Amino acid sequence: MAGRIPRNFIDDLLNRVDIVEVIDSRVPLKKKGREYWACCPFHGEKSPSFSVSSGKQFYHCFGCQKSGNAVGFLMDYDHMEFVEAIESLAQSLGLDVPYEQGSAPAKPAVGLEAMYQVMEQSSQSFEAQLKQTPAAIDYLKNRGISGQTAKTFAIGYAPPGWNNLSGDEKLLVDTGMLVKKEDGKQYDRFRHRLMFPIRDRRGRTIAFGGRVINPEDNPKYLNSPESPLFHKSDEIYGLYEMKKAVTNIDRIYITEGYMDVVALAEHGVATSVATLGTAINNRQIESLFRVCKNLVFCFDGDAAGKKAAWRSLEQCLASLKEGRLARFLFLPEGQDPDSFINEFGQEAFNQQVVSASTLTEYLFETLLAECNIGTLEGRAQFLDRLRPYFTQIPLQSLKDQILAEVEHRLGQKIDGRMLRLLGEDKPRQQARSRQPEQHWTPTRLAINLLLTKPSLALATGTHDELAESNIPGVDLLLKILDRIHDEPGITTQNLLDRFKDDDHEAHLYKLAAMEPPIENDESLDLMFADCLQSLQKQYIDHRQKLLITKLQSGEALSESEKLEHKKLFTNQI
Ligand SMILES: [Zn+2]
Repeated sequence: MAGRIPRNFIDDLLNRVDIVEVIDSRVPLKKKGREYWACCPFHGEKSPSFSVSSGKQFYHCFGCQKSGNAVGFLMDYDHMEFVEAIESLAQSLGLDVPYEQGSAPAKPAVGLEAMYQVMEQSSQSFEAQLKQTPAAIDYLKNRGISGQTAKTFAIGYAPPGWNNLSGDEKLLVDTGMLVKKEDGKQYDRFRHRLMFPIRDRRGRTIAFGGRVINPEDNPKYLNSPESPLFHKSDEIYGLYEMKKAVTNIDRIYITEGYMDVVALAEHGVATSVATLGTAINNRQIESLFRVCKNLVFCFDGDAAGKKAAWRSLEQCLASLKEGRLARFLFLPEGQDPDSFINEFGQEAFNQQVVSASTLTEYLFETLLAECNIGTLEGRAQFLDRLRPYFTQIPLQSLKDQILAEVEHRLGQKIDGRMLRLLGEDKPRQQARSRQPEQHWTPTRLAINLLLTKPSLALATGTHDELAESNIPGVDLLLKILDRIHDEPGITTQNLLDRFKDDDHEAHLYKLAAMEPPIENDESLDLMFADCLQSLQKQYIDHRQKLLITKLQSGEALSESEKLEHKKLFTNQI
């Protein structure tokens, strides 16, 4: 199975991907001590015994003993096939998965590649058309969009007429560029529109947004339909362009349309993005938070804007981890970011941002407007309304801040009854992560240390003689030593991956999950040397006893045993 994708690619992928991010986006983790913890997603439990090691890049559950690396997690948690998991991780890093010749999952790869090409050709053709169409250029100019910005976003123009597109018709239908009627006839989906290519995180055009030029045409905005390339609820317009233009992104503005993104960029606000005609979801928010911890949601000041804002808040809560900040900006009624910045300029826009509500402010203002907290009933109702939002927040410090705000707004100390109304049954009791008592033996410790720092093995031999001892677990230790000597410079995650499907795999993860009492990197070397010394001693004791027993029972020693006997008793081993 693994043979289809080159080994070195999988190694590279495991070295680049961060398992904490991979798991955290699915199962929120909390850092405690050296590791990250959560309640295990694979078995029911109330206190966390599922640990994720950032250093060793694997997960291990002390409860059900499930363990593995990032690939294994996706296979188990998202029920992916091996190749699918690799593809998914590679995509998150912007990498193409190479397949050994003759083994590529031929059809989709070829099909997708051809689709990307057709989209790229269409995009270039729209751009060329724009340059030849004064009416479209005038329209852009009137909207205050310069040639430079048009170029940045590869804005183009689809001319009127039903059959302007060229290329493989099936691909054009599959990508949604052509509409196929019931009678089999086909025609261009986008006609007489400004065209905004929607590009994925790697800059490939996967869809288009088309905006009318003639105000009488309908609909005003038309997007490509879902296709094998385009899943609109996964995509974020402007993300690629933003990352390309700005290296230090300190704030991301989330708007409702591509015209907003383009207009803001035109006025020097280059870090804005938009969803594509759908409400933003938690996956999109999560991926934006990974780019930048400071998000500002921008909304029109009308009823639709308020509704969208509240939905964004709901989608945001589970992602509010350490250092992440979400704010909500409501523009004056009748304005959107596009019209606002065109009318008032960047300075005025920045001032609006300064006055944007924090998530807590927005949450309280909205809920308080619905309840009369002057009455006992109203207070209970308020806490009851707050509960579903409050319980979703993973960050204790933010919860504490909200509790303080509750006290302040209600003018009343938080008591047990109020906490219960908020869904906090055992308020301050932190769930303790469960790590069973650890029994260290020199073998276990040596393996654990090698998994922490594989290069330790290089300072010592492969210790083949230990195979002759009867020390439990020593066979696994020798296997690991061999492995590292074969591949000096191997990383922990790759080392662990070498034991995939090995009989020792589960045991290995268990040992990797144990936490040795290490103070610093130097003590690691000493500790490892001690372990080997002690194993060596156990081995000598064992062989000495064996040979002595043999001699005492009157058996003759073989030549090699005689040699060994001599060495053993003169400290030559
Ligand atoms: Zn478990």
